[in-house]
Amino acid sequence: MVVVMRPDTSQEDIQRLVEKLEKMDLEVGITNGVGCTILGLVGDTACVDMDKIAMNSHVERVMRVQEPYKKANRKFHPEDTCVRVGNAAVGGGCFSVIAGPCSVESEEQIIEVARDVKDSGAALLRGGAFKPRTSPYSFQGMGLEGLELLLEAKAATGLPIVSEIMSPRYVDVFEEKVDVVQVGARNMQNFDLLKEVGRMSKPVLLKRGLSNSYEEWIMSAEYIMSGGNENVILCERGIRTFESYTRNTLDVSAIPAVKQMSHLPVIVDPSHASGMYWMVEPLAMAAIAAGADGLIIEVHNDPPHAKCDGQQSLTPEKFGRLMEKAGALVALAGKKLVK
Ligand code: PEP
Ligand code: MN
Repeated sequence: MVVVMRPDTSQEDIQRLVEKLEKMDLEVGITNGVGCTILGLVGDTACVDMDKIAMNSHVERVMRVQEPYKKANRKFHPEDTCVRVGNAAVGGGCFSVIAGPCSVESEEQIIEVARDVKDSGAALLRGGAFKPRTSPYSFQGMGLEGLELLLEAKAATGLPIVSEIMSPRYVDVFEEKVDVVQVGARNMQNFDLLKEVGRMSKPVLLKRGLSNSYEEWIMSAEYIMSGGNENVILCERGIRTFESYTRNTLDVSAIPAVKQMSHLPVIVDPSHASGMYWMVEPLAMAAIAAGADGLIIEVHNDPPHAKCDGQQSLTPEKFGRLMEKAGALVALAGKKLVK
């Protein structure tokens, strides 16, 4: 971190600030230029509040030279992180596919879809029990009953289950019942929720917010990791752009960029990115080619009658065909498809 002092600052005022900074366990290098002094701060600057330093009336500008995240930073952890869930593994050369309906709707539906996606090679089952819907009049999910049905599907197939948590009040229930806790795009910056999830022992699938930068997304992972839970999977699910043809715009660049910034695995959700079932396969292929560590795909046994997101859901047959193509491309990318 670099602190530029105002030109008219006295040596006493500079010394006073240097002492304050040293008390924060920072080493301070002082460079006296022509008419201006620059302080170079070395130490754990990720934990320093820049704004507090900038508030000092003798400070002109504060600049970071290092990222504000530490635990998620590839610089301090050069190897890829692999998140393991039962037999499934995401990252570090392992590629897993999560598949299932947008929402759990009934026992028959979730068990039928679970069996089908398992047969096609999915390693985890997804299903929303608590749904973040734009309209309060839309189906809100089956709630706790939905989690019980997911457990039945897990018992029938052995697939670990992934489900979205929307409120800190369900942390204990999710800790007990779910294998991977999903934090949805709309809650990516719900910091109370992130702190609670950071105390859980279960891996977290953190979706990118609708309009969030890579750094904001990684900072949300940092919240979870700083609470002690370092098993975070990042998920690019499309962002808001001016284009309205697709539901969102899949940001393919996020895959190589975020994997360069962080050691955490990055997976892609082509279903919410496109909003259209026929675009799911080409976007899934693009994601694999760009280096993704996995996919999360919506699959429904009867898309026209789905209670949520039927238009972007694949039938089990279409999902099976996608998995055949994906398998070949994953192998070409030098990764291991975990089933
Ligand atoms: C979902 O996965 O069902 C979902 C609501 O996704 P997102 O948070 O990415 O919109
Ligand atoms: Mn959905």
